[in-house]
Amino acid sequence: MTADISAADWFRKRTTQTVLAALNAALPDGARFVGGCVRNTLLGEPVSDIDIATQLEPDETIEALTKASIRAIPTGIEHGTITGVCEHEPFEITSLRRDVETDGRRAVVAFTRDWEEDAQRRDFRMNALYADANGKVHDPTGGGLSDIADKKIVFIGEAEQRLREDHLRNLRFFRFTAWYADKLNAEGLAACAALKDGLDQIAAERIWKEWHRLLEAPSPYKVIAAMQETGVLNVILPETETLDRLNGLAGIEAKLEGPLSGMQRLLTLLPQDEDLMAGLAGRLRMSGVERDRLVDFARAREQFSLDMKDKDAKATLYRLGDITSRDVIVWLWAGDPDADWMRLFNLASDWERPEFPVRGADLIRQGYTPGPQLGEKLREIENAWIENGFSMDGL
Ligand code: ATP
Ligand code: MG
Repeated sequence: MTADISAADWFRKRTTQTVLAALNAALPDGARFVGGCVRNTLLGEPVSDIDIATQLEPDETIEALTKASIRAIPTGIEHGTITGVCEHEPFEITSLRRDVETDGRRAVVAFTRDWEEDAQRRDFRMNALYADANGKVHDPTGGGLSDIADKKIVFIGEAEQRLREDHLRNLRFFRFTAWYADKLNAEGLAACAALKDGLDQIAAERIWKEWHRLLEAPSPYKVIAAMQETGVLNVILPETETLDRLNGLAGIEAKLEGPLSGMQRLLTLLPQDEDLMAGLAGRLRMSGVERDRLVDFARAREQFSLDMKDKDAKATLYRLGDITSRDVIVWLWAGDPDADWMRLFNLASDWERPEFPVRGADLIRQGYTPGPQLGEKLREIENAWIENGFSMDGL
């Protein structure tokens, strides 16, 4: 099988060509594109970031970039990664490596000039495709191109051994399956099930990063069901009691115009419980924004109901904000997928939040003195304004 990616926009782009030329000037055919950019081009999927593998060692990479006036940032120099920045665009350039030692979490690596060795330490065959300066794709494992054609995620080498080297690959298997495969590879699935507890060794932020990307896949529902069946889900998200809501969501999503977010999908795996959400966000080391989103959702109990009038729904929307409102509506809908929540969902999506027109300064001008009672008075007027359909008329 042969393949060529020379027609891809990102490949032809001036910045891409400049960086590759700078590296190849130091060592002809010493640098090739690898990973997501090659895989996604062949799959017809969008390319987000560009990884380059090179036979140059990190200090040689820095030298080659600097010579061509490309900024070189040693972002992960201990494992061989330099970020080259060309016209504000970053390129991750990593020296070819082989694993010397693995402990399930991090590897000690040695640099090599052997493409084959570099391929062997990568995770899946479709992630070990290399494109040279002509756009010709090299497939050192011999299975990457056929996996692309068959839409299959297959470990390089023996799956259980590859998981023991780095247990994060367990989640990566599910993530790439959710994004790019038609079905679950039985051998990989069995290995992930057998070694699921190894995920406990992985740093929480790495887990969350992979898990979040999995949740953002176009339709992650079958994969999440498989994660539950194998017990993998229970290791990373023991708070989940049932997939009922998530399964409800799958049907709802088909009726909507755009996809739901990873956070909305995550919520349907969880009960609406504030302490549980705060604990979960801390455990997975989520960002403050992500944590607040989960907690705000959990605090907003029972604020929407199917029979509520638009006027009341708008008041709730105003108080909760549109993100939390949509989270609550989607969660309720997922538990009741045959009911018609579309009206409230659309209302929450299209509604523009009116701005409360009164300021503290307005009250001071009318003779109120600054202090806590001023804030109270403001809230009182705001509530009246909300009740009055967001209007000051007659108040
Ligand atoms: P995307 O960037 O679209 O998520 P990607 O395949 O580029 O996909 P990265 O996480 O950027 O994913 O990793 C780049 C490449 O590095 C992968 O394609 C794979 O070859 C290799 N790789 C990354 N993480 C691992 C790992 N844990 N074990 C083995 N190889 C890995
Ligand atoms: Mg990448």
